[in-house]
Amino acid sequence: MKQVYEFKEGGKEMIPILGGKGGNLSEMVKIGLPIPYGIIVSTTACNQYFKDGEKLSESLKKEILKNIQILENATGKKIQSENPLLVSVRSGAPVSMPGMMDTILNLGFNDYVAQKMLDITGDEEFVYSSYLRFVQMFSEITEGIDRKRFTELKSDNYKDQINEGKQIYKNECGKEFPENFKEQIFYAVKAIFDSWNNDRAILYRKLNNIDNNMGTAVIIQEMVFGNLNEKSGTGVLFTRNPSTGEDKIFGEVLLNAQGEDIVAGIRTPDDINLLKTTMPVIYDELVKTTKKLEKHNKDMQDIEFTIENSKLFILQTRNGKRTPEASLKIAMDMVEENILTKEEAILKVEPSSINKLLTGDFDEKSLKEAVFLTKGLAASSGVAVGRIMFDSKRVKIREKTILIREETSPEDLQGMALAQGIVTLKGGATSHGAVVARGMGKCCVTGCSEIKIDEIKRTMTVGEHVLKEGDFISVSGHTGEIFLGKIPLKENSFSDELKEFILWAADMKRMEVRMNADTPEDAMQGKLFGATGIGLCRTEHMFFKHDKIWAIRDFILSDRGEEKKKSLEKLFELQKKDFLEIFEILDGSEVNIRLLDPPVHEFLPKTKEDREKMAEILEKPVEEIEIRIRKLKDENPMLGHRGCRLGVSYPELYRMQGKAIMEAAYECSKKGIKVLPEIMIPFIMEAKELAYLKKEIEEEIKNLFEEIGGKVEYKLGTMIEIPRACLLADEIAEHADFFSFGTNDLTQMSMGLSRDDSVKFLDDYREKGIWEGEPFYSIDTKSVTKLVEIALKNAKPVKPDLKIGVCGEHGGDPKSIEFFENNNFNYISCSPFRIPTAILAAAQAYLRKEKK
Ligand code: PEP
Ligand code: MG
Repeated sequence: MKQVYEFKEGGKEMIPILGGKGGNLSEMVKIGLPIPYGIIVSTTACNQYFKDGEKLSESLKKEILKNIQILENATGKKIQSENPLLVSVRSGAPVSMPGMMDTILNLGFNDYVAQKMLDITGDEEFVYSSYLRFVQMFSEITEGIDRKRFTELKSDNYKDQINEGKQIYKNECGKEFPENFKEQIFYAVKAIFDSWNNDRAILYRKLNNIDNNMGTAVIIQEMVFGNLNEKSGTGVLFTRNPSTGEDKIFGEVLLNAQGEDIVAGIRTPDDINLLKTTMPVIYDELVKTTKKLEKHNKDMQDIEFTIENSKLFILQTRNGKRTPEASLKIAMDMVEENILTKEEAILKVEPSSINKLLTGDFDEKSLKEAVFLTKGLAASSGVAVGRIMFDSKRVKIREKTILIREETSPEDLQGMALAQGIVTLKGGATSHGAVVARGMGKCCVTGCSEIKIDEIKRTMTVGEHVLKEGDFISVSGHTGEIFLGKIPLKENSFSDELKEFILWAADMKRMEVRMNADTPEDAMQGKLFGATGIGLCRTEHMFFKHDKIWAIRDFILSDRGEEKKKSLEKLFELQKKDFLEIFEILDGSEVNIRLLDPPVHEFLPKTKEDREKMAEILEKPVEEIEIRIRKLKDENPMLGHRGCRLGVSYPELYRMQGKAIMEAAYECSKKGIKVLPEIMIPFIMEAKELAYLKKEIEEEIKNLFEEIGGKVEYKLGTMIEIPRACLLADEIAEHADFFSFGTNDLTQMSMGLSRDDSVKFLDDYREKGIWEGEPFYSIDTKSVTKLVEIALKNAKPVKPDLKIGVCGEHGGDPKSIEFFENNNFNYISCSPFRIPTAILAAAQAYLRKEKK
């Protein structure tokens, strides 16, 4: 079994065997770049080492030495000879594991080699500083001796410091520092193999879901010396500006130095532009090389290089990390430069970075210096800076405010609309605060359980910090972090470039991307972002605005019979007006309107003041209103009298809604507007429920058509959000034109995990490694996806043309979108500000599926 490879034998396709770095170096050799020559001990050898009980086999040792000889021949230098060859030894796993890297430079040094190097260069500083660095790095990597010990050496000259370093090694390990190359290289290879299983690496792999059995490769490469003389140096560069994406190399160089000097921060590097004047030929070669590398790797590169005596060597290249702005610009520029096709460019941009572009972010430098307060759940993207306020009514238009509430309810709506950002102590990713904030495109962090509010004193406490109302904080809805004081923002918007990029993606996707929009304002916003239709209009949310909440409270709390009928008339007028506006905006696109699904507790008047107002409206004593509230209150509101259950109890409610939708649709169609209404019934658990409600609504609509002497086509379907509905999807499908998966409730019920309470304890699960991720963001692939698949399998044979969509929060999550694409959904739907991200994710998912 071959265990060691020369660079020229490898390539990118061999990354599983040669590691990422090894594969890239081989690739650079292939395209003729100046690379110090080297060999790679494979991951296969690493795995064999662990199988053999952490012993380097004799055959591996032999193969390494044989390949070192090849290295000697290729470089014309010889290990520990008159013309000594020194090597670097580095780890390189098949996947990038930042911070897990182990490096030993200048391996091969001993006193004899130092003397020979001195004879050649005549530069004591260079030779002994390199030798000392080797002793320090070797001791650290092979024996774990803290590098700090080598910065505290007592001697005042290198030679003595080297001996002192070797003595530290001997004291710590009880053996002499190895002088012989064979010993040095075998210790080094063994140490790097061992590093695959150190605590840091194991934890990193666990956190990033990386296979423990991959193993690491070891790269042994000829040393080139940036610290040889003034015509030498070392540097790192990005082939384009990683902050802005500008097509200009961006980086740093340090003359007469080794890379470690930059890493250790011993000397401050200069701007890469210094080379333009000091080494113009090298600068030009560097620029040409960056272009060649970009073309070959089809991406912006992050490169390490060394100049040895006016000769350029590339040590490493990889795809460079970049800001969302740069990511977009680079992808689009590379299409212009014919480096990427549009499809390839679409696949290059992380969908989540689009979110950041749309909603802005903190200035990175200032963020590093900010005082961290606490962390909650990143419920809605964006960042906000403002004065804290604990009472929605005190949030002012002219003042930048962060509204902090235990949890939010419809009464907080006005305050939420005015605030820059929203923080709640309770609640999760689909709590009222989270859903409403996302709809508003407003930054929101939920579940900040470490914050304690004192409403009387108007203060909040987080750990040792006590903040008064009016103090400034900064909130990140991207990470869930909250900071003390004001952090400067870098504002962003839906730029022309982003618009164009999203248009490219829109052309490539297969699924329709619709919006969850409850108001004309939402609908306008979503349309602007590229949504082609509404996938969910939550009619109960239409009452959140202005004083409309009283109309729905009126209905909920009024007596059956005449009283309820009167309140229904009021609701009818309000609803019809909203539908008219929405149909007009969505001219020519489907509008999916969900009939009322209010968890009643969210709508009942909470304060004494509100209960009194309700009593006035209903012309009843307050005491009676209080009795009715108590009666209506569900013990378990999420599983209580909500959704179609209200429709079954009060069919007149759903009939009223059906009529309002169709009357508005008819009036619009008369004006020449193309209306495509879809009536959606929530919370179905049984086919008979749907059959009953469908009959009621259809009867009402039929009456309407007869009355007006005209008709409009419409579709009637249901949400699938209860596990039982998935299991009985064949029976339910018989009564439905479409299914829209309500993955919020489906997650809640499949996992037995409360939408509002899971945030209180899921962090404990994550910390203990019992759970990863956030199931209300990214669809759970062990339960919810299984139920969706069962539903599809049951329903499709009954009704092959059944339209399938999703309108839970997962409709805006790129990972979940991949699942919906792979299961041939017709559409996904999400809040307006997530539309561009969803369009990009849908395009990527389709392109990936097609490639398979
Ligand atoms: C759902 O349950 O996924 C859904 C969209 O409905 P809601 O969030 O309004 O319960
Ligand atoms: Mg639901």
